[in-house]
Amino acid sequence: MEAESQASAIIPLALPKGAEKFCELCQREARLQCSKCRVTFYCAAEHQQADWVGIHERICQLLVPIRALTLCSLRQTSHTETQIKKLIEICRLVAQSKLSEGKHQEALPAAQLCLRCSIDVHGPNTVQLVPAYLLLAEANMGEKQAQNDFLSQAEWAVLKSPKCGLTIHHQLHRSLGRLHVAAGDLDTALHNFANDIYFATEEYGLDSTVTSRGYFLMADVFTKQGKIPTVHSLYSEVARIWHRHLTRLLETRKESIQNPPVDSFYAERVEVDEMLRTMLEFEQKDTRKDPARIAVVAHCLAMLSLVRDGMAYGILLLRSSKHRIKPVTSNDTRGFFFPQRLFLFCGL
Ligand SMILES: [Zn+2]
Ligand SMILES: [Zn+2]
Repeated sequence: MEAESQASAIIPLALPKGAEKFCELCQREARLQCSKCRVTFYCAAEHQQADWVGIHERICQLLVPIRALTLCSLRQTSHTETQIKKLIEICRLVAQSKLSEGKHQEALPAAQLCLRCSIDVHGPNTVQLVPAYLLLAEANMGEKQAQNDFLSQAEWAVLKSPKCGLTIHHQLHRSLGRLHVAAGDLDTALHNFANDIYFATEEYGLDSTVTSRGYFLMADVFTKQGKIPTVHSLYSEVARIWHRHLTRLLETRKESIQNPPVDSFYAERVEVDEMLRTMLEFEQKDTRKDPARIAVVAHCLAMLSLVRDGMAYGILLLRSSKHRIKPVTSNDTRGFFFPQRLFLFCGL
């Protein structure tokens, strides 16, 4: 659908007297409004299009009750606050997925809205704004000044609140690590990823999928440094964690049909998919290919597709990994037998 068809000119008489509207993206005077929700305004079609692709498509209807209520009453009710918190989470996940795909420009609208909503709920200069600052720092890749500003604000908020929680520390170090990779400072990046893993482990545990992302990012640095054996062992750890996690997800598949998985898994899936594909490509290109390692990663991808997209694509991937599956380790028989159970599950 053409984005232009979703915008229409603002009719000044339809607005409350004196209610000037500003562009969602640049805060300049608005001339257009989204014709679907009618509560979001833009200076020009270009910004409407950018916002639509970046985040608005996902939240257009969610904004209607939030903005309508905020207009009626300046005081936020607890229901509105819950809705805004939901909005913050969607913006955070969408921005994160786009960053994982390398679409920095497209991540900006979601990151900006994440910050604005976080300020609405938590107030300015609070530690709860750190995740939004970090998203903005990463989305502003190439804009050195803006990036440094957002990073400084994040670091300052964390410094002011030393008891802000392990998650914030892990997120801060992960973002710093990514930015140092982009700047080519691999040693500092490694130092930050090590801290990221430390804090993530303390909060979520050694085997959590959150921690596994830290291993993956660290492996990326080791790849750049040519330390291939270390990359293999880190990737094996990531594959092991995701294999276990996806196996459990598929086992609860029946329940998830009745209670569909929350949005978070769908957004996270983009990041995981990209991560597993990178690992698969790395293992396949290796001169001393290890079929067991390749099979585990391919199998993870198949399970991910089954969880997300249903049967057809998962079956295709399973067929491609069917003849390669071997026991990974002596204590990982669960992973070894799982493909057979999956084929039964798929009726093959
Ligand atoms: Zn604008
Ligand atoms: Zn809209």
